[in-house]
Amino acid sequence: MASRVIPVDPFDLVIFGGTGDLARRKILPALYRRFVAGQFGADTRLTGAARGEMETGAYRALVRDALMEFAPEAAADTGTRDAFLDMLAYVALDARGEDGWEALAARMRSGPIRAFYFSVAPGLFGDLAHRLHRHGLTDETARIVVEKPFGHDLDSARDLNRTLARHFDEGRIYRIDHYLGKETVQNLMAIRFGNVLFEPLWNSQYVDHIQITVAESVGVGGRAGYYDHAGAMRDMVQNHLMQLLCLIAMEPPARFAPDAVRDEKLKVIRALDPVARDHAVRGQYEAGHDQPGYRAQVGNPDSRTESFVALKAHVSNWRWAGTPFYLRTGKRLRARTSEIAVVFKDAPHSIFGAEAGRHRNILTIRLQPNEGIELGVTIKEPGPGGMRLIDVPLDMTFAEALGPEEADFPDAYERLIMDVIRGNQTLFMRGDEVEAAWAWTDPIIAGWETEGAAPLAYATGSSGPEDALMLMHRDGRRWREIRP
Ligand code: NAD
Repeated sequence: MASRVIPVDPFDLVIFGGTGDLARRKILPALYRRFVAGQFGADTRLTGAARGEMETGAYRALVRDALMEFAPEAAADTGTRDAFLDMLAYVALDARGEDGWEALAARMRSGPIRAFYFSVAPGLFGDLAHRLHRHGLTDETARIVVEKPFGHDLDSARDLNRTLARHFDEGRIYRIDHYLGKETVQNLMAIRFGNVLFEPLWNSQYVDHIQITVAESVGVGGRAGYYDHAGAMRDMVQNHLMQLLCLIAMEPPARFAPDAVRDEKLKVIRALDPVARDHAVRGQYEAGHDQPGYRAQVGNPDSRTESFVALKAHVSNWRWAGTPFYLRTGKRLRARTSEIAVVFKDAPHSIFGAEAGRHRNILTIRLQPNEGIELGVTIKEPGPGGMRLIDVPLDMTFAEALGPEEADFPDAYERLIMDVIRGNQTLFMRGDEVEAAWAWTDPIIAGWETEGAAPLAYATGSSGPEDALMLMHRDGRRWREIRP
C-alpha cells in the first residue's frame, strides 16, 4: 500500500542562504522529494536568495548538482528533475543591506502562502526579519523558519525572540528541531497515547530509569568553528536531547495540537531540577583510528569545548519523582546510534527463585539506525531443564513491520517543511520552550566555566570518558551498549 500524500496549498518559498551547505544537503533535496511524491505542483515558486551574484541558470545547475549528490535518485528521472529545477530562481541579496530586496519583492505573488526559510548564520535572523517587513514582503500568510542554534544562551535566545517578535507573531515563527520530524519520535507519541498498555506504567512506580543516547561516530568535521564555540551541550543537549526527554516525560496533552503539546513539554522543562555538579560529565575526544583529536581538528590547542556530555537529570513532579533520566551525547563514539530506553523496574517478587536471574522489561525507541521500537519481554527458555528465563525482543523495526514501501517515510526535513506550508506548528519549538531549555542548561555550562577544568579525554571509538560510566555505576545501573 503506497503512503497517502495530501497535496498542500500553493506556496512561494524563499530560502535565504540558498547556496549554503544546509540548503544543498537537506532543504532542496527534501523539497525535491516532496515534489516527486506529488505533494506540491509546478505552480510553486522556489527562490534561492544568498550573497553573491549568480544567474538563475547557474543556480539551477548548482541545485542539480546538489540533488545528484544528496538525492541521487534524481539522476534517473530527468523529466521530473527538470520540472523541479524550472520552479527555481535565484536572487542575489544582502541581509544587511538593501541590495536585491526589490528583485525579491518582484518575484513574490499575492495569493499563495509565503514561507521564508532562514538558512543563514543566526546573526542575520534579525536583519532578515526586519528587511522582510520593511520591504512589504510579509502578508497575512507569511511565516518564517529559523534554524538552530536558537541563541547561544538564555540572554541571546531572549534577544532573538524579542527581535523576531517585533515583526512576526509567535504563530508565524517555526523554530526547527529536526529531531521532532523523525518518524520514530512521532511514533513515541503514538505508542504512548494510542495504546492503553503503556501509559498506566509510565511513571516512577514502574519505571526504574530512562536513558537517552545520541552517539555519533564522526568528529566535528567541516563545522569546526561553530562547534568549538558551541560544544555538545549547546549543540545537542539544549535542543535535541531536551526535546526527546520532554516527549517521554510529558503528561498526555488534551489534543495533538500545537499549543496543547508544547504546553506539556514546557511544564517538563520547568520541572527539571538543577543538575548537581557531579551529575554532569563532559569529555573531549583524543586522536585515534587515524583521525586527529578534537583540539587538532578544530585548530585550537587550548580548547575546553566538550564533544561529549553525560547528565543525570530529575523531573520533579508526581509522575517522575525518583526516576532519573540519564542523557548522553558525543562525537567519535563507538557507533552512530540514537535511542531512548525506558527501563522498567523488576517484578516485585520472583516466583522462580534467585537462579532464574534478574529480568527487566525495556522499551527501546531507536532513532537510528533501523528506526523502530523494541520491547524486551521475559519468557521461559524453550526446552526441558526446568524454569529458566530469558529476555527476548518484541521487535517492531518499521521496515520489517510495514514493508519497504510504507517504511520509506519522508526524511525529517521533508515532513517539517510541509508542516510549515500546512501551518502546523506541533513539531516546532515555541519561544518559551527554547528559553526554558537554556535556563536549565546555562548553569551547567557556567559551572564548568567557573571550575575552569578541561573536559575529560576519551578515546576515539569508545563510549566516552570513564566518569560517564561511573555516573550510572554509582547508582547500581549501567548504560546500554553503543552498538552499530
Ligand atoms: P553556509 O555557510 O554553508 O551558508 C550560508 C549561506 O548564507 C550562504 O548561502 C551565503 O551566501 C548566505 N549568506 C551569508 N551572508 C549573507 C548575507 N549577508 N546576506 C544574505 N545571505 C548571506 O551555512 P549552512 O551550513 O548552510 O548553515 C545555515 C544555517 O543552518 C546556520 O544557521 C546553521 O547554524 C544552520 N544549520 C546548519 C547545519 C548544517 O549541517 N550545515 C545543521 C544545522 C543547522
